[in-house]
Formats: sequence, structure tokens, C-alpha cells
Amino acid sequence: MALPALAGAARAQAAPDALAHSQVQSWAAFDTSGTFAPHTITRRAAGPRDIVVEIMFSSICHSDIHTYKGDWGMPAFPLVPGHEMVGRVIGVGAEVRKFREGDIAGVGTMVDSCGTCANCRADREQNCLNGTTFTYNSPDRISGGVTYGGYSRKIVVKEDFALRIPPGVDLAGFAPLLCAGITTFSPINHWNLQPGQRYGVIGMGGLGHLAVKLAAARGAEVVVFTTSEDKLEDARAFGAAEAYLWSDEDAMRRLAGSFDLMLSTVPVAYPMQPFLNLLKLDKTLVNVGALFPVEGLQGMMMGFGRQSLAGSMTGGIAETQRVIDFAAHHGIAATYEMITPDQIGAACQKVITKDARYRYVIDMTAA
Ligand SMILES: [Zn+2]
Ligand SMILES: [Zn+2]
Repeated sequence: MALPALAGAARAQAAPDALAHSQVQSWAAFDTSGTFAPHTITRRAAGPRDIVVEIMFSSICHSDIHTYKGDWGMPAFPLVPGHEMVGRVIGVGAEVRKFREGDIAGVGTMVDSCGTCANCRADREQNCLNGTTFTYNSPDRISGGVTYGGYSRKIVVKEDFALRIPPGVDLAGFAPLLCAGITTFSPINHWNLQPGQRYGVIGMGGLGHLAVKLAAARGAEVVVFTTSEDKLEDARAFGAAEAYLWSDEDAMRRLAGSFDLMLSTVPVAYPMQPFLNLLKLDKTLVNVGALFPVEGLQGMMMGFGRQSLAGSMTGGIAETQRVIDFAAHHGIAATYEMITPDQIGAACQKVITKDARYRYVIDMTAA
């Protein structure tokens, strides 16, 4: 009879340890070169509404690369990127309701926001009027330092900013849903893409390939525009009805004025007017990839077709849960290649040279 009591005592001891602040192995960039090296960071002690997640899979988003390269301003080095991660919950604070130890949780592009402004109250934490706390390289409201992302073995996060990952899914293939998935899912909700509508996806990398899968699952007629010839076949395999090279001038002429909605996932600036010309009257091209000055717009052409160019970035936590549940329901996951942490730098180079097919997922449990 002493045994259950002993086991109970052991559990009671284990839980506080899991919640204590800890030194955690991570992989960091120390400059803009794209080289990553092991680096030890401190994760805060978990508060009553925090969970501790042992990260299993973390995937590489082009934002990670833009950040270490300084494309969006010089980051705080050492930089630990990563905002697409899935792992096991190993500690829960006393007031946590959404998770239990042993559950699988995901963390995406943000870990905190004010929670009280109009946008936060409308489930748009990514647009927090008092400043969203992004998952890495962001001022940390709680620790006072800077946030560190998923290229790490462990993270401590408010349960409100963690996502439930349903059992039985491909966990590695689900990690990219946490940014690429929600980034491409939110526009088709906001602009209300309907079954049968013509939807153009420009660029088919990490974001674009998920855009195709998600929109095809909603019954849209998806058309892909890529610069890589070998992706034409993949586009159809992911559910696209048609796929064209950007250089296909015949197709660009023939498709003018035929789309209900378009999404640009290309991570660099390029002249957008040729694609705006493909929209029907009054329709919208949503840019989620090139977060830079927009190039090559023609006021006369846009006026003539009354087309809109819009921006969108990630999505709220509730909407992120929706894309995870939607993907689980439809059997959608990212197409990926698994790597180990020592391969992060090389994998980033392949993302830059468009050789990724289609996401690199880092096995964070590897030595
Ligand atoms: Zn991302
Ligand atoms: Zn807010």
C-alpha cells in the first residue's frame, strides 16, 4: 500500500521542477551570415497560466531568414528564430485549463499581447494596438529581455498563446501550419473564398504549397504561378487545377480578368501589376510574402479594373486553432524534409535558392 503513496509523492516533486526556470539548449545566429551554432538560453519559470513545452519539431520559415539577415532591421543577436513548433507539454501552471501534461501543443508566430485592446478583444492578437509579442526577437513583456523562438529544446508560453494539436496527425507536418498555414488560411477566410471560385496562388514555396492544399480543400479552383518548372507537377498533386510559369506570356494574356482572389506568397518584392491584371473587376490580391516596399503598380490599370492590393500577416490564436482543426479534418499537412539542428544553416541557404521542397522541419530531439 506504500507504493501508490510514494508514486504520488514523486509526481508532486516532479511537477515543480518542470515549472522552474531553466537553461535550455538552442541554436542561434550570432550575426547576419546565416551560420547557426549551439547556444544556451534561459527560459523563465512557468507562471500559473503558463505551460512548458518540450519542442519536438520546429520548421524553418522565410521570416527566420529575413530576420537574421537584417532585412527588417538589425535583430538582437544571439538570435534564436523559429515560430512554427510542435512539442509535448511537460509542465502546466496551477491555473492552466487548456492543457494537461503529456498533451501535444503548438506555438506559432506570437507568444503574448496586451489582451485588452480592441484588436486583442476581437481575436486579432497579431494586430495588438499595444504591441504584439512575437515569438522571437521581440521585446518580452514578462522577462523584460528579448523572446527566443523554436530552434530550441523547450519553451515556456502562456496557455492562451499555445494551440492544441489533435492526436494522430503527422506532428512534423503540422509544425508549418503554425505560421505558413495560418498566414495562408486567414486571407481565404477574410476575403471569403467560396467553392468553385478562381483562386490564384503566386509563388509555391513553404507558404504557397499550403495555400494550395487549404484552398483546394475548400473547393476553390486553384491556379498556381511559379518560377520553377519542376513545381508545375507538384502544384497539381497538391490540388491545383492549373499551374503556370511566370514566363508563360500566353497564359498571362488568356487569364486576364479571370480571378476572384489572388494570394502572393513570394518572399521578395517584384512587380505585381501583371498579377493584379488577372483579377476580375473589384477583386483583391493579398500580399503575405513580400513585407517590403511594393513594386511596379500602375494606378491607371488598378483604377480601370478597380482592383485592390491588400496585406495580411499571420492570424489570431482562435483562427490558428481553426486552421489546425481544418487541416486535421481534411488530412492536410505540410510537405517537408526532416533535418537535424546542425543542418539549419545549410537548409536556410536552400530556402533562399528556392531548392526547398517544401518546408524544412528540424528534429529538435536530435543530438
Ligand atoms: Zn513564418
Ligand atoms: Zn492588444
